[in-house]
Amino acid sequence: MAKKGRVFSGIRPTGRAHLGNYLGAFKNYVALQDDYECIYCIVDLHALTTVEDTLNLKQNTYDLALDLLAVGIRPEETILFVQSHVPQVTELHTLLSMVTPLGKLTDLPTFKEKVRQNPKNVNYGLVGYPVLMSADIALYKTDLVPVGIDQAPHLEFARETVRSFNYRYNTNVLIEPLMKIAEVQKVLGIDGKEKMGKSLNNHIELAASPEETRQRVMMMVTDPQRMKRTDPGNPDVCNVFTLHKVFTPKEDVEMINVECRRAGIGCVDCKKRFAESLNKALESFRAKRAEIAAQPDLVPAVLADGADRARAIAEKTMQEVRAAVQLP
Ligand code: SF4
Repeated sequence: MAKKGRVFSGIRPTGRAHLGNYLGAFKNYVALQDDYECIYCIVDLHALTTVEDTLNLKQNTYDLALDLLAVGIRPEETILFVQSHVPQVTELHTLLSMVTPLGKLTDLPTFKEKVRQNPKNVNYGLVGYPVLMSADIALYKTDLVPVGIDQAPHLEFARETVRSFNYRYNTNVLIEPLMKIAEVQKVLGIDGKEKMGKSLNNHIELAASPEETRQRVMMMVTDPQRMKRTDPGNPDVCNVFTLHKVFTPKEDVEMINVECRRAGIGCVDCKKRFAESLNKALESFRAKRAEIAAQPDLVPAVLADGADRARAIAEKTMQEVRAAVQLP
């Protein structure tokens, strides 16, 4: 079946993936493969803007690629590669930086937020991050970029950058990508308050063992108003219940919804049931992950093949770009 267009998405190499990565992005990546030609890029260069110690970068890249393959990314059709393996992106980044006003970059709320979080490391790469991101997208003549609503301004920036480039050089070689607003589920961590993430250590790793998973689930914060077993609970404010709705059979979810409200089920039992549902849902992922991990050459081979295919597209774009800019 003919595909509807080309999708690009970049993923930071944060190592072994967690439930938040899966529900917030990977699930959607897998589904998009059915209708689109997908290019998924592990953006190691972007990571350097905030990661100073690169000791784990290689391992984190490998682990992420392994998890992506295990969740269902199909490398025979989808291009999965590492950003720095296609150096053309840095060339396009330089050319796009010439059409990007500095004030526009320093005014971006995300830049201000990064400065606030890390005032001692405001490097040039951090300022130019959105330009590199625009280069990632434009280099592969992307039609669509799946974004959560909170990332929409980034994509708008990329669209404007492409427009500025095409206008400056009186060309149409770069494509203005469209946004595909994904219904991204915001997944809270086991603290029940903050978004799930490794930096807060409130995550549940997809590749954790069933016992490790159970232990993390049993640490989950539930309805904060429910102090004792005999207190009725409110599933509507409980993160365990939110995740039950994703992983537990519907009839059980309905039962929990009723029983929780009349203190018919305790949080300990409820979490045990959730751990069972989650472990069951992760069984095939874990089996596939173990199968891939048992072939140490497989992930590097997939990434090398992905880079070859990505480089072919990138070089073709750059030939057109260099001609448009009239580089001698
Ligand atoms: Fe949450 Fe379940 Fe406890 Fe209700 S019984 S508060 S749904 S963990």
